[in-house]
Amino acid sequence: MSAPFDTIAIVGLGLIGSSIARAVRQSLPNTRILGYDRNVNVCARAEAIGLCDAYLPAFGAELAEAQMVILCVPVGAMTAAAAAMAPHLSAHAIISDVGSCKASVLTALRGALPNAIIVPAHPVAGTENSGPEAGFASLFKGRWCILTPDADADAEACERVAAFWQALGANVERMDAAHHDLVLAVTSHLPHLIAYTIVGTASDLEGVTQSEVIKYSAGGFRDFTRIAASDPVMWRDVFLSNKDAVLEMLQRFSEDLSALQRAIRWDKGDELEELFTRTRTIRRSIIEQGQDDAKPDFGREHK
Ligand code: NAP
Repeated sequence: MSAPFDTIAIVGLGLIGSSIARAVRQSLPNTRILGYDRNVNVCARAEAIGLCDAYLPAFGAELAEAQMVILCVPVGAMTAAAAAMAPHLSAHAIISDVGSCKASVLTALRGALPNAIIVPAHPVAGTENSGPEAGFASLFKGRWCILTPDADADAEACERVAAFWQALGANVERMDAAHHDLVLAVTSHLPHLIAYTIVGTASDLEGVTQSEVIKYSAGGFRDFTRIAASDPVMWRDVFLSNKDAVLEMLQRFSEDLSALQRAIRWDKGDELEELFTRTRTIRRSIIEQGQDDAKPDFGREHK
């Protein structure tokens, strides 16, 4: 199979941008990668790892060689990055991104690049780490990448972007941007908000010392701390950009939490057991569909 693109540009060489570069090196070795990051220090670190064919802190004439440009910057930085690259793009370039929210990013890209071919994407894969050193080539293998182009988007461009992600090992699905934001509000954004809250609450408790929180961070709490260690700038932008869907899901969550609170108060053990039985089957379905490891405790070693 021939590569979907001869030259691509990756803007933002952090966790996701550097993982794309690594995966392209591995799966599409003939594809040329122009790496951009406004941070010269990040460019130097990416160059030390040898991720791309060029490392550039600012856009210039070479950007016109890119057949696809993927914006891998925080959602709140998409408009600025798109506006900065606008004068240097080829008219035929496909503009894509990896932002965790899609409706706001699509609006931002359309505003900054009114005549561009835009095919937004969201690889539903990541970790709590940031920066070029955090990336790895297998990040997208077997994971979903959701494309959210407009209904009238260029069909060939959508197919090329889909072929690109499939070459990196991802499964591709197409979805309306607003629906994507609602689904991800439940599966990703709300869990992060809950984790940030629980870890924040524990660290604020007056009767429990910081050292006790860390020392006795058994099972449940420890797993929340992993999520709550996620990049502060990225997640600030996600909540501000997907405000409506997150607030809607938060409302539902608060109602369900109140119902649980009542069940505990009035000793309704059967209600608790019924819910916990239902949630256990969700975990099992995730494992059956190959979206997580079946090993207990995420395969951590217990020495
Ligand atoms: P990251 O590791 O923090 O990397 C982002 C990089 O973009 C940083 O090096 C940052 O430089 C650079 N940057 C910021 N503004 C820029 C601009 N205007 N022009 C050029 N470079 C700029 O973040 P990440 O985790 O890879 O996330 C990137 C995108 O992927 C976000 O939109 C996020 O929503 C999406 N995403 C993340 C995950 C995840 O789990 N992390 C999963 C799926 C999708 P500075 O150091 O100067 O800020």
